[in-house]
Amino acid sequence: MKESINAARKSSQKRQDCSGAGGAGFVRSHLCDALLARGDWIICVDSYITGCRDDVWPLTNHPRFRLVEKDVCEFVEIDEPVDQIYNLACAASPPQYQADPIHTMMTCVAGTGNLLALAERHGASFLWRSAEHPQREDYRGNVSCIGPRACYDEGKRAAEALCFEMLRAGRVDARVARIFNTCGPRMQADDGRIVSNLVVQALSGKSLTIYGSGTQTRSFCYVSDLVRGLMALMDVRPNPGMPVNLGNPGEFSINALAEMIRTMVPAPAALVYKPLPKDDPQRRRPDISRAIGLLNWQPAVPLAEGLGYTIEWFANSLGELPRPRTVAPNRLHSTAASQPAPAGS
Ligand code: UDP
Repeated sequence: MKESINAARKSSQKRQDCSGAGGAGFVRSHLCDALLARGDWIICVDSYITGCRDDVWPLTNHPRFRLVEKDVCEFVEIDEPVDQIYNLACAASPPQYQADPIHTMMTCVAGTGNLLALAERHGASFLWRSAEHPQREDYRGNVSCIGPRACYDEGKRAAEALCFEMLRAGRVDARVARIFNTCGPRMQADDGRIVSNLVVQALSGKSLTIYGSGTQTRSFCYVSDLVRGLMALMDVRPNPGMPVNLGNPGEFSINALAEMIRTMVPAPAALVYKPLPKDDPQRRRPDISRAIGLLNWQPAVPLAEGLGYTIEWFANSLGELPRPRTVAPNRLHSTAASQPAPAGS
């Protein structure tokens, strides 16, 4: 399992970030790109328990990037000033976070405790990448606290509680983002998530695996939109003092997603239906009114467009595979401040 934090330092005129990420680390890699692009200095903290450094290795020679190998479940100290900490620790895909559920839970709770303590020592702002709760932020959730997803869901919730206690105590400027399904280039091909699974299967000419009836829904945010939202939440003043949903409100059934991918990849493969995993949520769609109001943020990349970039990236990175029909211009690092209409369809 991989862990990650991003921390940013302001030392005289410089801002330094330290970063890490769970699961594929793909969100973290895009966040690092965006932070470096605005001139930040980054310290990336990651245990690399899953052994994959692919998401940051292109940055390791960057003069403003430093990698620290460390499990955030242990005491973390950074020997330089830090002014922002993005805590992206914790594997994000169900197969990955269920592979070592105890470590997943500890990464959320102990890891967040350690990083909040680091933030307190440095006087840094702190952002916790929490998990989606369906719909509005004031919905209190209906998740099993003993099922196979509990290590993740309850770990994220407990970490939220820690953040708000530290905020109420005036000890850390803590912020909480609740993020929803995200897709984009640099997802891990084998992390078990729906978009990576289906795209890799389609590109390989294999049957597309649908769990359950495929009528369950998800909402997919393109990674550059998510990164723009994370940075906006970290930078907004004053501290919102409440969790903020970051996701794309466009809602799609898994069947609809599979059909979309089959129209975009040559030699579309058949669908094969498999049992629904335990505690698999039926519906996910963020209400992003709070993010629009507080951050003036909303996603700009519709699913079809984001899927096009994702398919193109997988087609290139998987090698000798058919090219996708959709070849879109690269909007990977789009951080346009403009506020286009919600990208849902
Ligand atoms: N899913 C699927 N086929 C796959 C992988 C996932 O039908 O190959 C389903 C999964 O059961 C869930 C949805 O797609 O209903 C999204 O799964 P994912 O693991 O991406 O994330 P989740 O939102 O469940 O955390």
